[in-house]
Amino acid sequence: MEEKINFEKLRQEMVEHQIKSRGIKNPAVLSAFLKIPREKFVPADLQVCAYDDCPLPIGYGQTISQPYMVAIMTELAEPTKEEKVLEIGTGSGYQTAILCELGCQVYSIERIPELAEKAKKTLKELGYKPTIIIGDGTIGYAEFAPYKLIMVTAGAPEIPQSLIEQLDEEGRIIIPVGDLYSQELIKGIKRKGKLIKEYHGGCQFVPLKGREGWK
Ligand code: SAM
Repeated sequence: MEEKINFEKLRQEMVEHQIKSRGIKNPAVLSAFLKIPREKFVPADLQVCAYDDCPLPIGYGQTISQPYMVAIMTELAEPTKEEKVLEIGTGSGYQTAILCELGCQVYSIERIPELAEKAKKTLKELGYKPTIIIGDGTIGYAEFAPYKLIMVTAGAPEIPQSLIEQLDEEGRIIIPVGDLYSQELIKGIKRKGKLIKEYHGGCQFVPLKGREGWK
């Protein structure tokens, strides 16, 4: 007989051993990770690995990021309730769910329609109501700009100018920038139209493809 997986226990262990122990402290971020069922965001045959300390394939050559990477990006982003957030790279929708759980008003763009539709369905089933847009996120989404926070979950060759323009004054952008194989996690804060950058270590993301990304 097949043994039932205790996802809640796996989720608690993930938060303790992969996230808290590596320095993530924001209580709201930790409680969002404790609440969201990551197993719903991975393909059925990979649910058993949903809480492993690594990214996982979600189809179409794309991945759901490693839990710790989602956590460090969220902690650096400092999202607050009611804030208007633009996410580029919906993927599975897991990062979108974390932002929704933190009370943000989320607009999320995904270039692969099948992934966008799947994420939309998963998020709806869990009661979250982000706006999911199919398109090229490298040019942002001017219709709802400016954004207090922009989170890019794919690796860019440089920070797209359109995204800088669509950031609110004092807005933040979190984005991995580098070559196709490795990137550095950057937090940019807009001040008087310029971006002040902080560097937060190496990472590896799938490429951000589009007009202001990789061709
Ligand atoms: N945040 C996602 C999650 O929690 O599952 C992981 C995202 S995955 C690492 C990166 C995603 O960015 C992929 O789904 C990919 O199709 C998408 N992507 C790449 N370039 C894009 C672009 N220009 N606009 C929108 N999405 C893009």
